[in-house]
Order: sequence, then structure tokens, then C-alpha cells
Amino acid sequence: MQAGSVWSLPLTPEPLMGNPRVPIFFPPAVASPSLRGFTGKSPAIPLLCKFAKVQMRHRTSYQTSTKSVGLVRPKAIALRSFGTDLELRTPAREGWAVVVDFDATITTQDISDAILLHYTSNSFKDVRESYVPGTVTEDWVREKFRAVQARPGELRKFVYKTGRLRPGFKRLLRICRINKIPVEIVSGGLDFYIRLLLNRWGIRGLKVYCANARWISHGLDVRYRYLNGFTLDHFKARRVLEYKKRGYRVVYMGDGSSDFEAAKKADITYARGTLLGLCRKNLVTAKFFNDFKMVATFLNSHH
Ligand SMILES: [Mg+2]
Repeated sequence: MQAGSVWSLPLTPEPLMGNPRVPIFFPPAVASPSLRGFTGKSPAIPLLCKFAKVQMRHRTSYQTSTKSVGLVRPKAIALRSFGTDLELRTPAREGWAVVVDFDATITTQDISDAILLHYTSNSFKDVRESYVPGTVTEDWVREKFRAVQARPGELRKFVYKTGRLRPGFKRLLRICRINKIPVEIVSGGLDFYIRLLLNRWGIRGLKVYCANARWISHGLDVRYRYLNGFTLDHFKARRVLEYKKRGYRVVYMGDGSSDFEAAKKADITYARGTLLGLCRKNLVTAKFFNDFKMVATFLNSHH
């Protein structure tokens, strides 16, 4: 793994995971975006009906006779014949992508906070300060981890003991894999424990953005090279926007104040903790989640 940068576990998601089916050909009048709204009086109907007959002769999944095609109302023809394929041709219809925070989102508790509480003199109140909006999370983490004196072996044991996977995450990943939904972790947490825990849980194939921690003589040196000059909250938002630019609708899940910018940009946000409070206060639509089963169910039924 490269220091302080993005690491990809072996099965990096494909850059574009659209439906692999080849879209059927549409004559210009049919391919028009106005198709979804056309009515029985539209001049495109005769052409559409005629075209639907041709398509149905070649698509075994449609056993409707030519005659019945002529009797179906135009809107129904559009839906039955090429509703899904048409969506492939429309921007923002690539399907869903998932961008998710790690600490206290994928895990049941924040591992960074747990380490600081256990290995430094920081109190719970000190740790809560990092959740106050306006706190630059990455600066805070960098400063606090300088005081962590524990050696790698000791921290590894602590992480194994502390790290718990939130229920439903593996199910969510399975649904995403089946439906070719890209999933990416965007975290302000540290690589050594994120890697340890994902490996322990047998989770592979995710793109992970996180900080790089390096043991130095008097503590841990934390670097956020992947931010490339952006703050963590804006970087998270940029990852959401990147998928949207590629035509995806994005589900974002998080818990902290650094997730708020991303939550504002996502199509659907699942939130808990500080993030949920911020969303409610600022009228950003967000659904509370306690496990990932509801997210998996949503994606399975809406993909
Ligand atoms: Mg978090």
C-alpha cells in the first residue's frame, strides 16, 4: 500500500458498472427525452407502434403479437417495450453507487476515538470536540494521534477487540455485487486498523480512501495525502459528486460532521449520530439507520 494514499483491495470496482445489456436502437422520435411524457395524441405514436412491432419480433421476452401491440395504449408500449433500455440512454440513469464512511458507520463504534481514549489522556469530552461542526477533523486526528505511544502489536490486539461490524454490511455488499453497484469507503480513519478489520471480516473489493499512519519514535504520524488540498468533508462530497457526474445516483452513509457535505450532495443519505442531528437541523433529508439491512433492501428493490 502506498503511504497516505488510496488503496484498492484486490477487486477494485469497475469504473462504470452500467447495465451490460446493449441498448436497442431508437429512431430519433422515439429516443427523444420527451418520450416519457408523451400522450396518445403525440405524432410520434404511429412511428412508435410501428417500431415496437419490429422490436418485438426480435425480442423473445416479448411474446405479444403484432396485433396486440397496436391495441396497447401508447404509454404502456413505451414501458413494456423499451422503458428500461431508454433509461440507459438518459444521463443520471447508470444506477446506484454507494459511498460510505467507516468509523461508527461500518463499525459500531469509532475506532480512532477508542484508541485515543485508551492510549492518550484525552477524555470523552475532548473526543466529542472533534464532532463539533467547524472542527477540521483531519487536523484534529493528526494532532491527537501524535500522542499515541502504543506499538503496532498492541494496537492490533486492541483494534481486534474493539472493532465490531455493523449488522447487514456484508448483506449490503452482496446485494451491491449482484447488482454491480460500486461501493467505496471514504474515511478520515487510519489505514492500519481499517485494513486489519476489513481483512478480518473477509471484505474485499472495495475502494478505500483513508489516512496513512506511520509509527515514529514518540507516537503516530498521520498523513492525509489523498485529500490533495481539500478538507475531509469536501473530499467526501467530491467523491459523491464524482459518481453523480458519471450518471449514478448516490447513497451516502455516515455519522459525523465531516459527512455533512457529502450528505447534502447525495441522492439518499442514511445518517446516525452527529450527522443525523446536523441533517435535521439544516433540513437535509436523511434516514436514520441502525444497520445496513434497510439500505440493502432499498438497493435490491430499486436497482
Ligand atoms: Mg464516522
